[in-house]
Amino acid sequence: MSLKRYWQKRDFSKTTEPKGKVKKDNNCIFVIQKHHASHLHYDFRLEVEGVLKSWAVPKGLPERLSEKKLAIQTEDHPIKYAEFEGTIPEGEYGAGTVEILDSGTYQNITMGNNKLISINKALELGHVDVILKGKKVKGAFTLILFKEEKGYKQWLLIRKRKA
Ligand code: MN
Repeated sequence: MSLKRYWQKRDFSKTTEPKGKVKKDNNCIFVIQKHHASHLHYDFRLEVEGVLKSWAVPKGLPERLSEKKLAIQTEDHPIKYAEFEGTIPEGEYGAGTVEILDSGTYQNITMGNNKLISINKALELGHVDVILKGKKVKGAFTLILFKEEKGYKQWLLIRKRKA
């Protein structure tokens, strides 16, 4: 991948377009949002192929090693949502305040047959290993799909090790 042609066509002292750079690793963003909806929960989101794959985690992310928390997969959110904080008005879907607890990048480390498998494939297979590199939340976590009920995929979010 190269942005050479993009850069050649632009004078960044004149345009406010981003200069940008090619992402060299397989780091993508993650965010944890505390959502004071009818039931307080934490939204955990991972950037996957241009969207945020999302889970509602009623009790928050696991903190202790090997601790497991239920994570219910919700609809994909736009990447831009990772910056969202504010109050969703009464009567609207998810009414209540949303606050960013942490964000950063993550690295997919899911292996299958001795090689790295894509995060998308891992989600499909129901086993995802990631390393979160947040400001507060750091370390390895695993998501395991264990049940699908009424169209909702229920996962376990497991703390693997600290960074
Ligand atoms: Mn939510």
